[in-house]
Formats: sequence, structure tokens, C-alpha cells
Amino acid sequence: MSSDQSWKEKYFQGLEVAEHREGHWKAERNTLERMLVRTCLASEGQAPDLDRLLARVRSDLRKNKVDVDSWKELQEQIDRQVALLDDVPARKGGNRPALAAETVSEPKPVAEARHEMELPDDASEAGNQGQRLRIARRVGHLLGQLLSQVSLEPEAEKRARNLQRALLSSDNWDELRDGLNQVADLIVAAVSRSQREFDAFLKRLDERLEALQRHFSAQSSAQSGRQAAAETLDRNIRKEIELVGRHVEASDDLQDLKQSVTLHLESIGQAVGCFRVEETEREKMLSEQLRAVQEKVAIMEVHSERMQRQVRKERERAVTDLLTQLPNREAWQERLSFEFNRWKRYQYPLTVGVMDIDLFKRVNDSYGHKAGDRVLQLVAREIRNQLRNTDFAARFGGEEFALLFPETLPDDALIVMNKLRAHISALPFHFGGNPVTITFSAGLVGFAPGDTEETVFDRADRALYSAKDAGRNCVRISQVPG
Ligand code: GH3
Ligand code: MG
Ligand code: MG
Repeated sequence: MSSDQSWKEKYFQGLEVAEHREGHWKAERNTLERMLVRTCLASEGQAPDLDRLLARVRSDLRKNKVDVDSWKELQEQIDRQVALLDDVPARKGGNRPALAAETVSEPKPVAEARHEMELPDDASEAGNQGQRLRIARRVGHLLGQLLSQVSLEPEAEKRARNLQRALLSSDNWDELRDGLNQVADLIVAAVSRSQREFDAFLKRLDERLEALQRHFSAQSSAQSGRQAAAETLDRNIRKEIELVGRHVEASDDLQDLKQSVTLHLESIGQAVGCFRVEETEREKMLSEQLRAVQEKVAIMEVHSERMQRQVRKERERAVTDLLTQLPNREAWQERLSFEFNRWKRYQYPLTVGVMDIDLFKRVNDSYGHKAGDRVLQLVAREIRNQLRNTDFAARFGGEEFALLFPETLPDDALIVMNKLRAHISALPFHFGGNPVTITFSAGLVGFAPGDTEETVFDRADRALYSAKDAGRNCVRISQVPG
């Protein structure tokens, strides 16, 4: 039956959507977990006890052992350790939190070690206070980024926004310390909300599938009811016809025969009428059920489409750098693996570039962080405009960008890079009334036999260093490994 067929298809499509959905939710949960791991990593190095607790958070995440109750307890222990930290004077060189805030939003690049900030050895109490407030501000920024990547319940979202405002503007450390503790709560809330929403979706899906199943079994019992009724009708008609036949044989009185045939025909008519009434009842019941199921499935479709759209949007956000809107490091790794596999199979030339803005710290130091951010945005725009559609660029972290030139030799990529260099150095930056020239240095490397994603990146990074050593504002090609 064709309506059977279409319902079965819908049923299987429903199942497929659910499986799809589960995959998407897993990806979203992964992103949140990765953010949490990075936050932990960036916060380590302040106290051995705190490090142990953070290591447990990471290990639970790695082993997929997140239990909300035991995490609540873990979080309280972390709170206590954080409170203890506040009572201890800053240790020598203990500027990890500032670095943490700096690097949480972007994964730490391989070459980032050389970027770590120096802290005066004998930081005074006032210095500590200032530094703590700076940390709080950076965490405020970080929270803003987190908020744009996860969805919270309206109440939690409001709390998070207030918290962010406090972190960005308050200068009372005690207030800020409470605020920092609440950030951890919010991350746990975001993770468990994703889980809850997914559970609710599955529950709804389950209800709809159950309704479908009920419909199918009602249909199949109606089917067998119809069969039984048709058999009875058939039997009755045969019986009546047989009786008529016998009468015809036995009787020679035409009047009597006429009467008997009329009676039997009436019986047959009654049996057919009865069958028809029952049949109409069955049809009515089935079509009502069908309409109810149709409504349920339509709601289910709308719901799952909405969730798919949301997941697509969130996936997009998870692989995009917020500041520059370029693909982020996550996206870079994905694309690099893809192009690397293509290179292994087809052996077309493949060139990797690493570029780093020259003396960028000076921009921040002289004109402020906001000016630095603006430079990053405009440089990213220039990269997007100058590269070909088949090339790929990502913000690798800080003021470093990674580039991929498929089917291109390093010498040809060099031409593109030098053109980009000319464009960027001609950008008309003005900060505080001063014209400022921005330049970058870059390393290029072509994949060679025996290369892996790591060896190539390593050589590109070394080529970048030699460009810096050669006086900056230039591009160097790495030699083939020997
Ligand atoms: P070099 O030519 O050797 O690369 O010098 P540099 O000053 O560019 O390198 P350094 O590694 O000393 O400084 C990089 C600076 O980039 C330090 C860090 O504060 C800044 N930075 C990293 N990410 C951001 C960001 O998102 N916004 C802003 N404004 N600055 C950032
Ligand atoms: Mg750098
Ligand atoms: Mg630099």
C-alpha cells in the first residue's frame, strides 16, 4: 500500500535525523569540552593542589567521565584553592593567569613560547592588585567569547552578562574573585544544558515514533479485521447462493421459487450493507489516526530542522575566529589534514605558509590593545582579499596566520605573499594621529617526500624565524629537508 510505504519512509527518515542530530550534539559538546580543557591548561602553574584538581577536570573530560554531582564537589574544591591563592602573595614570575587569559581564546601556537610576557621579579602588593584586575578583565573578555559560542538559559545568560560587565569594569578584587568562581559554574551549566536539550529532543522523538508505531499496529489490526469481515461476507453469500441453487433444483413451483430467490437476495443485500457500514467505520478510524500522526510528524520535522539549523550555526562559530572572522586553528587542522591526504594521493605540489606580524607588541604597547585588534582585523581582511579562492588562510593564534596553497609551488606562493606584503605595508593606519606602517614576515615550505603535517609546519616556522632574523618584512622559503 502506498501510504504504508510513505509512512515507513518517514519513520526511517526520523530515525536518520535522530542519528544525525546526535552526531551534531556530540560535536558541540566536544567543542565545549575542548574549551574547558584549554581553560584548565591556561590556568595551571599557580599552586600544586589547584593543578591536581585541574588535571582531574581534564582527565575526567578525556575519559568521558563527567558526572555533574562529583563535578560540583570538584568545583567547590577548586573554589577553595582559588580563595587560598588570593591570600598568598604572588610568587616570583607567577604571571601565568595573565598569559592564561591571553591564550585561552586562541589555542597556544607552537611558537607561542617566545611570546610569554616578562613579569618584574619583585612584584609589589599594589602590582599584584593591578595584575589581578587585569586578569579579571581578560577573563571578562574570555567570558564574552564563551557566551557567543554557547547557548545558556535566559536566567544564566543574564547572570553571565552582568558578571561580564562586573569583570570588565569593577576594581574591587573581592567582588571579582566571586565573579571568577561563577565563570566555572556557567561553563558546567552550559555543558549540562546541551545534554539536557538533547535528552529532551530524544524523548520527544521517542514519543513521536511511539505514536507512529501505534498507528501501524492499528492499521495492521484493521487490515486483519477487514480480511475477516470479507471472509464472512464471502461465506454468507456463498451459503445464500447455494441455498438458492438447492431450491431451484428441488422446486417446480415458480411462485415459491420467486419468493425464495427474493428472500436470499435480501439476505445477501443485508450482508453486503453490513460489510459496507463496518468498512466505512474502519476507514474513518484509520484516516483520523493518519491525520493525528501526520500532525505529529510535521511538528517533529519543524523541530528537527530548527535544531539542525542551530547546530550548523554553532559548528560555524566553533571553527571561526571571533575577532578576524577567519577560520580558526581548529579549522586549520582539519583543512591541513584534508590537503595533506590529497597531496599523498595525487602528489600535486602543496605549499604551507606561516606569517607573523612584525613588532606587533609595540602596536599594543604604544596605541593600546584595541588598536592591535583593529590591525589584526584589517590584516585578516587583506589576506582574504589577496588570496585565491582555492587558497586557505586561518588565524593560527595571536598575530600569526597559517596559509595553504594547494597545487602551488613555494616559488609561486612567494609571488602571492610578496604581493600581500606590499598591500599590507601600504595600509593607511593612523593611531593617535600618527601614521603607522604594519609589516609581516613569513616562511613558506613545500611538502616533500617523507613529510608529515608536523614536519612541514616545523620547517615553515623555522623559515619564518630566518625571515625575522634577516630583518623582518620579508618572506623566506624553507629548503627541502636533507
Ligand atoms: P616579532 O616581530 O618578533 O614577531 O615581534 P612581536 O612584537 O610581533 O612579537 P611578540 O611575540 O613579542 O608579541 C606579540 C604580541 O601580540 C603579544 C600579544 O599581547 C599580542 N597579541 C596576541 N593576540 C592578540 C590579540 O588578539 N589582540 C591584540 N591586540 N594583541 C594580541
Ligand atoms: Mg608571534
Ligand atoms: Mg610578531
